[in-house]
Amino acid sequence: MSLPHATPQRQQQLQENFQKVEQRIEEACHEAGRPRESVQLLAVSKTKPLEDILSLAAIGQQAFGENYLQEALDKIAQAPELEWHFIGPIQSNKTRPIAENFAWVHSVDRLKIARRLSEQRPPNAATLKILLEINLDEESSKAGFNEQDIEDAVSEVLQMPHIELRGLMAIPMIRSDFEGQRAVFRRLKKLLGALQKKFPDARLDTLSMGMSGDLEAAIMEGATWIRIGTDLFGARDYGSKS
Ligand SMILES: *Cc1c(COP(=O)(O)O)cnc(C)c1O
Repeated sequence: MSLPHATPQRQQQLQENFQKVEQRIEEACHEAGRPRESVQLLAVSKTKPLEDILSLAAIGQQAFGENYLQEALDKIAQAPELEWHFIGPIQSNKTRPIAENFAWVHSVDRLKIARRLSEQRPPNAATLKILLEINLDEESSKAGFNEQDIEDAVSEVLQMPHIELRGLMAIPMIRSDFEGQRAVFRRLKKLLGALQKKFPDARLDTLSMGMSGDLEAAIMEGATWIRIGTDLFGARDYGSKS
């Protein structure tokens, strides 16, 4: 089976996008007084074809984030050497293929999901790295743990054998003002700080926050993974999926 290739124009477009994003990350790190290596770029490739992913991989991008399970599994089967992160909503009857095929899961939003991922992670595989998703906007419709429940959740998750809890993730409401963006990310950083104090033996070193529109604010507030889709790949096709 030969893998698909993007057209030369598309490759050039992706390379330009990648360089622009890289430059924004470097500038934000500089502004924040952080080393460039302290922030990792997750390329969010949902709805985008495998050839786009392979083009970015060819210029050095290793980690890709996907939201839709079946679409992701098709891509992973063709590019298993890349590092795949699941970042979408998780139905509890779909945890097994997630446990079997991904390196990271950012969107663990309830204990039942963590428990199933641990039980279903193949014992010969490396532990699955997970993040707990926090609902920072406290909208009841939104997924995620509430800030007041997180300590109890963390102490349970830390007992689960085949997953490794590494930190927190959030998808805050879109805000247009920089200070407002920073304020909400600062809350996630504070929450992680409190957990690090409470659980000093756990390796809680990860904050997954910041997307195309607010990566600078996220980096100012300590993001270690930023999740970028639109500004790398262009706008998504809002047909059946978004
Ligand atoms: C789609 C998506 C992103 C990427 O968002 P952009 O604004 O396109 O950069 C990041 N995180 C999650 C959880 C997403 O679903």
